[in-house]
Amino acid sequence: MPPMGQVPLPTIDLNRCVHCGEPISSTNPTWHYKVCRVLHHDINDPQHTQGDTHMNTGKFSRSQVDHLRESLGVFDEMIYMVNRDNGWFDDDRRFGEDIALLHSEGSEMLEAYRDHGMEDVVEITHADGRTRVLAADDPDVAVAVSLGMKVKPVSVGSEAADVLIRLLDTCHRYGIDLAAETARKVTFNATRGYKHGGKAL
Ligand SMILES: [Mg+2]
Repeated sequence: MPPMGQVPLPTIDLNRCVHCGEPISSTNPTWHYKVCRVLHHDINDPQHTQGDTHMNTGKFSRSQVDHLRESLGVFDEMIYMVNRDNGWFDDDRRFGEDIALLHSEGSEMLEAYRDHGMEDVVEITHADGRTRVLAADDPDVAVAVSLGMKVKPVSVGSEAADVLIRLLDTCHRYGIDLAAETARKVTFNATRGYKHGGKAL
């Protein structure tokens, strides 16, 4: 066997799907490869093993959707309990208000980026109400935690989490099966083609 680092890489024909060998229709082979690899497993196709994907049939397996539903369900339940205990289910909210709150979390994600870039930061609140923003790995953060001070994540990542939390909360309120809807939409998107619609973004 050749030494580490000198193992010849396999030749990949980017014009064909690495899983099934069929010609790639997209004008962006890398995009096709990624989508094909992770998108779906056709349980009726003997060419594909569990977890593989295939563009042409474009379906998720039932187990993949179930896994996603199960994973989201764990967070969904936690989010529901936390929000309920914090009083956010005491009053009815309109659908438009839920969507506005989703928007606000997306905007907070942008504001976090404007303030901190991609740095992982937290905000510490002192006993007298003063606040201080520190890198999450600053030694003072561990001290603040040990003293029971309020330590709030304020990075882009934490705001991204808020987007997901708000989305799961909204779907919970309206009985939306987010796992099944995600599988259906990603499958549809995979059929739309390279930069479909002629948009710049
Ligand atoms: Mg937020």
